[in-house]
Amino acid sequence: MEPRIGVYICHCGSNIAGTVDVEDVARAAREQEGVVVSRAYRFMCSDPGQEMIKRDVQEYGLNRVVVAACSPTMHESTYRRVLQEAGLNPYFFEMANIREHVSWVTVDKKKATEKAKALVAAAVRRVYYHQPLETRQVPVNPNTLVVGGGIAGIQAALKIADSGNKVYLVEKSPSVGGHMAQLDKTFPTLDCSACILTPKMTLVGSHPNIQLLTWSEVEEVSGYVGNFKVKIRKKARYIDLDKCTGCGECAKNCPVRYLPQYKKGNGDGNTTGEG
Ligand SMILES: Cc1cc2nc3c(=O)[nH]c(=O)nc-3n(C[C@H](O)[C@H](O)[C@H](O)COP(=O)(O)OP(=O)(O)OC[C@H]3O[C@@H](n4cnc5c(N)ncnc54)[C@H](O)[C@@H]3O)c2cc1C
Repeated sequence: MEPRIGVYICHCGSNIAGTVDVEDVARAAREQEGVVVSRAYRFMCSDPGQEMIKRDVQEYGLNRVVVAACSPTMHESTYRRVLQEAGLNPYFFEMANIREHVSWVTVDKKKATEKAKALVAAAVRRVYYHQPLETRQVPVNPNTLVVGGGIAGIQAALKIADSGNKVYLVEKSPSVGGHMAQLDKTFPTLDCSACILTPKMTLVGSHPNIQLLTWSEVEEVSGYVGNFKVKIRKKARYIDLDKCTGCGECAKNCPVRYLPQYKKGNGDGNTTGEG
């Protein structure tokens, strides 16, 4: 299929057009191989802007589209939908970011326009070689790892666990609670800190969907979205967790406090005995 490319340069009000000569960029795009139509328009993401693309697809037989506007994070999905509604494969689309990458960061109008032209030329060249893609659905592992058992991590873990998903809550110190566990009252309501925190600490410890890993740290993360593998190092506690009531009696006579690496002030939140 011979590429028939439409190029659309967005003014984004004065956001882009205030710094970039958008008409000049549109003119330059017309010179490129495969470009059938090239226009500058006030707001490409508006309904009339979207309709303009759809009309051109029909009228000029476009099979590829480039929009030079804001960040793809903002509107790539919008334009892919426009292509789909116009009967094209949504991946025959390329976006050039001439706002965040050009107009917002370049003072000189001439230089901004030249850079915009170069980015549009690159996008046109790239879309020229696009292949039609199909969206696939793949199963993902919904288990979640929450790192840090302060109030934020505790609350996140509880929310996720309550929605029915398995959570691994990793806390590097011996107990969850974080800073809030050290406070008496919390600003601005002056609520009793422990009254809010303690029930949540108990809940994360007993929730059937939460595996609490205190005194542990993330050592390695590999894999990809939906299929991460994480290696956790559980530090030695030298106690039998099933029998521990947390009374602290054993700590009073613990020989570990006399080892030089556990001298007071080493910042690991561990034993604080004198060396
Ligand atoms: C003196 C003081 C007074 C404050 N007063 C108020 C107040 O009145 N009102 C208010 O709203 N906020 C107050 N704050 C702020 C409040 O502490 C925080 O908003 C809140 O506790 C932050 O919670 P958090 O879970 O985000 O972080 P934290 O409580 O800091 O918890 C982070 C947790 O993550 C763990 N962690 C860190 N790195 C890792 C890692 N790599 N692996 C595993 N675990 C890790 C830490 O050990 C810790 O348990 C105060 C803070 C301080 C210091």
